[in-house]
Amino acid sequence: KGVASLPEAIDLSHHLSALARARSVSPLKNLARYYGRPGIISLAGGLPSPEYFPFDTVKADILSSDKFVSTPDSHGSSSGPLSWLLSLFSSESDSTIPISIPKYPSTPTDLNLATALQYGVARGIPQLQSTIVAFTTRVFQPAYADATVLLHVGNTDGWSKAVTTLCNPGEGVLVSDWTYPSALETMYPQGVRAVPVRMDGQGMSATGLREVLAGWDAAARGMPRPHVMYIVPVGQNPTGATMGAERKQEIYNICVEFDVIIVEDDPYYFLQEGPYVHPTQRFSTFKQTDMSDDQYLASLAPSFLKFDYQGRVVRLDTFSKTIAPGSRAGWFTCNPIFAERLERAAETSSQGPSGFTQVLIGKVLQTWQDKGYIQWLKGLGTEYTRRRNFFIDTLLAKFHLEVVPADSPHNLFPGTVRYIASAKGAYLDEKRGSGAAARKPLFSFVPPTSGMFIWLQLHLEDHPKFKDVAKESLEMQLWVKLAEGGLLIGPGNMFAADKTASTASYPGHFRISFSNADDADLVKAIDIFAAVITKFHQDV
Ligand code: PMP
Ligand code: PLP
Repeated sequence: KGVASLPEAIDLSHHLSALARARSVSPLKNLARYYGRPGIISLAGGLPSPEYFPFDTVKADILSSDKFVSTPDSHGSSSGPLSWLLSLFSSESDSTIPISIPKYPSTPTDLNLATALQYGVARGIPQLQSTIVAFTTRVFQPAYADATVLLHVGNTDGWSKAVTTLCNPGEGVLVSDWTYPSALETMYPQGVRAVPVRMDGQGMSATGLREVLAGWDAAARGMPRPHVMYIVPVGQNPTGATMGAERKQEIYNICVEFDVIIVEDDPYYFLQEGPYVHPTQRFSTFKQTDMSDDQYLASLAPSFLKFDYQGRVVRLDTFSKTIAPGSRAGWFTCNPIFAERLERAAETSSQGPSGFTQVLIGKVLQTWQDKGYIQWLKGLGTEYTRRRNFFIDTLLAKFHLEVVPADSPHNLFPGTVRYIASAKGAYLDEKRGSGAAARKPLFSFVPPTSGMFIWLQLHLEDHPKFKDVAKESLEMQLWVKLAEGGLLIGPGNMFAADKTASTASYPGHFRISFSNADDADLVKAIDIFAAVITKFHQDV
């Protein structure tokens, strides 16, 4: 619960689906509100005695929150000798901290297994809930007073519950032209269709959104005007695009005007990397760990919550990219009416993240404290920045890369820096002729400023088979050759919200993630990529 001077959420209950309205309180869960009463003897629930839980204590060794603060930069693109020197004197960043969660602690309100492993409320254990509320209020700053937090089992689960709570079969959800396929797979079987909106270098276009909503023809589209949007605003999957404050404000205003609920799926929020700087200009590296906490938090693109004075944003946060995907835990931040319905949905499905997850994450956050968790997030941001830089630096080394002029027909996303790549070694492109040393473009990309992905736009237009076969299948032909050559990447068509539009009006794409492979494998991958794509354009 937030700040008193802010307005309360408006009543948006007309957005609830028929299914969400039909849910009643699980009769047994309704008793839970009495459980906490001091001295009450409860014989109501079918609760096993904690005596029979075979875990007496859960112990773990966790990393120090400054683990990534002092990692010397191994690629020469370092932030100077001073920081390297300082790293020599910094605390032992490889030491671990032992944590321990007992079944019965001496202070009963401490994190404990007797409660965490017992049936509980879908909201989650109070210790984790309160830490997350404080974090959300500080970091995302919802613009209304009664923003409510509720645990879920990761953003996949969060989105799934949001769809059943907000959408009826036969409705459409606004999505970006290119989007996360699992989000679509959540909707389709429920009879909820994707309504694509065009994108630019910052993700969803506000003008594109207005056009779709203002020109909505329900009869022609065969569905009512969409009242829900699904959006990945930071390090978008698959394009890597990040949306700045101004665009978010524009989109939020349009959503107020057309009464649209924004579901903000934001797993990459803390992987903000800043602009990519060419190595020749990289005099000092952008490092999140060099900033104060307040500077760091202010440097991050704001959440839609920061503009949300009505409570029409359902924000999905996940620990998948900040702790571990297998922990299966995250949280909703939304208005209290939606939170109550989402909690009812949880009562009859997941209930909440596993008790083991809740105590372990709860204990990590308690041990690190706010300051430590933010330090951890800064460290992660710094690591992903290094990876992003390393990947693009390697592309620079293996291809001839130049910045596309703003007025070039290859610059599909005006206003953003786009690099265009051709094969190394000068050769003239006969078709363009006139003696100009025009190189044959192979692919181009906007260097991502967040997340794990780089989205390559293929330039197959010079390929001799371009006119004969659908572009999507040319993309797949190249993809198969890469896979056979030993490199697996994401084929662009997998991410199209509208598969027919993607073949008709877009060039091919690939999504490559730089989040996981080590540096040596990334170099090998780019070697394979360079050899295969160059050959693909040569021998036809
Ligand atoms: N089905 C029945 C018949 C039950 O009695 C219970 C628990 N009381 C459950 C399901 C809930 O099981 P779980 O904890 O595995 O979700
Ligand atoms: N949403 C997006 C946009 C993602 O890219 C991913 C993971 O790849 C997820 C959700 C899955 O998140 P979670 O592990 O929290 O279910």
